[in-house]
Amino acid sequence: MTSAIIDGRAIAHVLKGDLAREIERLRHDGAAIGLATVQVGGDYSAGAYERRLCRLAEQLGVRFERHALPADTTQAELLDVIAELNWRPEVSGILILRPLPRHIDESLVFQFVNTGKDIEAVHPENAGLLALGVPRYVPSTAASVFHLLDTWLDAAGESRPDFYHRSLIVVVGRSNNVGKPCVSLGYDRQAAVESLDEWTSKADGLGRHTRRADVLIVATGVPGLIRAEHVSETAVVIDVGINPRTGPDGRVHIVGDVDFASVSARAHAITPVPGGVGPVTDVWLMYNTVLAARSQAGMPAPAAGWLFGSYHSLQEASQ
Ligand code: NAP
Repeated sequence: MTSAIIDGRAIAHVLKGDLAREIERLRHDGAAIGLATVQVGGDYSAGAYERRLCRLAEQLGVRFERHALPADTTQAELLDVIAELNWRPEVSGILILRPLPRHIDESLVFQFVNTGKDIEAVHPENAGLLALGVPRYVPSTAASVFHLLDTWLDAAGESRPDFYHRSLIVVVGRSNNVGKPCVSLGYDRQAAVESLDEWTSKADGLGRHTRRADVLIVATGVPGLIRAEHVSETAVVIDVGINPRTGPDGRVHIVGDVDFASVSARAHAITPVPGGVGPVTDVWLMYNTVLAARSQAGMPAPAAGWLFGSYHSLQEASQ
């Protein structure tokens, strides 16, 4: 069997068109839309992400500013940069790129971000709202994972509520920025959800859990962790991993956390890397920036499912 490929680039292209039209309308109404990124040190993946966002902002006409700070930046210096972004009106959304150097207390930095500009929901208030099922912003990677799933279900003619209500979603990786938000969005869809980290999967055998998954979401940063023997033939596999590898020619290429060659010969459907979760994540971050700009311009909160189908529209459909 060969898996159906869930094409993130094609799905992102549609989202980008919808978003471009909304940005045009907002600009016409005089709203300022601006994204600021803050990176401390020179992590390869964070730098690549920041460059992609810069290109996308340029294409969409979103004001973009980049704060690239040296690796020895002190916590106080970083907080000064964020304090300035917090109050400047032309900055709608703030993205603190991870990883931060070890001498910086990430959770303290996140508590310092203006909650209205916290488009990745890293502030405890926004993370809490997400966990309660009433998010101000849905972190872009988890939003991308479920947008890919929802779109794939729509295209396959499957009812989203019926699918999620009977499904077990297994999330491998339990980070605050990807794994845990995916668990919350799975709960919001009234699916059964199981969450694994390195210790639970090593103690109990990864495959024992993952083979039961109807939906397998993998976000570990371990290249090729999931192989054919870890998945069932009915599984939909979403690979979040973005792992840079240097080839024999010295060029860097990206591989996922799923061994695509073996898993795509067995699973029901799969996202590729690159070209799966990543492109939709980028557009969703811009979507959150637009939501922030609307709120700062005093516009009313958009209707449920505004712009493109969110988990809200799914919840409505299931009621
Ligand atoms: P992270 O903060 O390092 O967290 C990794 C998680 O995976 C941890 O919970 C860790 O468990 C778990 N883990 C590690 N080895 C495991 C194993 N053998 N079995 C089960 N769980 C294991 O990483 P992250 O920020 O979540 O990112 C994960 C991957 O996604 C990376 O490749 C990253 O580049 C990529 N990413 C992609 C996007 C995108 O848009 N496509 C966005 C963000 C991140 P412990 O908690 O026990 O350590």
